[in-house]
Amino acid sequence: MNYSFWEKYFIESPADVTIIGSGIVGLSTAISIKESRPDISVKIIERGAMPYGASTKNAGFSCFGSVSELLDDIKNMGEEACMDVVRMRWRGLQKLKKRVGEQSLEYDHCGGSELFRSKDILLKESCLDGLEKCNRLIKTHLGLDDCYSLKKNNTLKGFDEVSILNQYEGTINPVSMMNELIRKAINIGVIIMNGIHITEIDQVKKVLNAYNNIKINYENLIVCTNGFAARLIPDLPVMPARNQVLMTSHLKNLHLSSGYHLDKGYIYFRQYNGRILLGGGRNMDEKTETTDEFGNTELIQHYLKDILETIYPGASGQIEHWWSGILGVGNSKYPIVQWLDDHLLVGVRLGGMGVAIGSHLGEKLANEMLTNMDKNNRS
Ligand SMILES: Cc1cc2nc3c(=O)[nH]c(=O)nc-3n(C[C@H](O)[C@H](O)[C@H](O)COP(=O)(O)OP(=O)(O)OC[C@H]3O[C@@H](n4cnc5c(N)ncnc54)[C@H](O)[C@@H]3O)c2cc1C
Repeated sequence: MNYSFWEKYFIESPADVTIIGSGIVGLSTAISIKESRPDISVKIIERGAMPYGASTKNAGFSCFGSVSELLDDIKNMGEEACMDVVRMRWRGLQKLKKRVGEQSLEYDHCGGSELFRSKDILLKESCLDGLEKCNRLIKTHLGLDDCYSLKKNNTLKGFDEVSILNQYEGTINPVSMMNELIRKAINIGVIIMNGIHITEIDQVKKVLNAYNNIKINYENLIVCTNGFAARLIPDLPVMPARNQVLMTSHLKNLHLSSGYHLDKGYIYFRQYNGRILLGGGRNMDEKTETTDEFGNTELIQHYLKDILETIYPGASGQIEHWWSGILGVGNSKYPIVQWLDDHLLVGVRLGGMGVAIGSHLGEKLANEMLTNMDKNNRS
């Protein structure tokens, strides 16, 4: 790379707040900082020509949890913690809709349905047993009535007749969402620097080392690199988890009435402009899929193709595109918000519902950072 003096000076000089990663969290954090303090300079460093993480590669479900996910999370984390996270997702979704607007999100309020295969009989029974409990919890914590209801599935023949509808979910176009966030951020003065890949954070010198011998000084740093965070900060309890996705070409007479989840959310599919988007299944090969390398594997592709045939016989011959994205996961579904030193804050581990939680987390990171900067200025 042949940077001029002017370019190098511009790239390397510090802003008041530097953010690594222009996914939904990095952008939301930057926007929240600028909205409350327009005088503070904010710079986002992004390795890709455009955001190159999960935020532009996801499935576009605007969701906060199916019955099987909630019951599973209650078992693993306890009721209070589970509902804390559900509340964050719900708040995040409201913030996102307000900030970006339903039209710019291409929001479709189609609901989210949980389906069951014949081998999911026990899961189905536990969901039916737990449905009313989940409705009570959602009413108590989100104030929403009758969130989950039984719905007869008579279109998707390969699945049980019983499905469970979450009437408050929908779908979006993730790239439309991100484009609008980028536009908003730039409009209020956030500087976004693309094509700069940070290789090391030097906390002592407060310098970010990047490829091409770039050294960016920082005053205050927020790391929003989610599933890639361990590359820069190896000790964080966040692991990458790859998700593989397919999109078919246009299919005749396709009428999927909502977004769909099965197998506790490990599998998801939806309709987009007459095509089927289907993804997930990392639990089939957890070891291989614990990676931050993009890619597709025969095992998962085969598994997803089988499910695709169940949804729409013949569709596995009409797959137009495969891709993958990287989640940040861990032993808890709480996102990590952690100070590593007085000038370095981390906001990662968004899990599988980061579209929902991202705007809420951005606001939290912004508040944390502004409070800390005020404290440092006073002392
Ligand atoms: C296939 C898939 C489907 C999903 N479906 C859904 C869904 O339907 N609904 C939902 O709510 N959530 C979904 N998610 C989860 C959601 O997309 C993520 O939780 C969310 O996008 C995370 O946002 P983020 O900003 O934290 O991370 P990311 O979007 O991953 O952003 C991190 C950014 O940091 C940049 N970066 C990383 N390392 C460096 C570095 N060293 N230097 C410079 N830049 C760097 C990356 O290029 C990237 O742009 C899905 C995820 C995947 C992978």
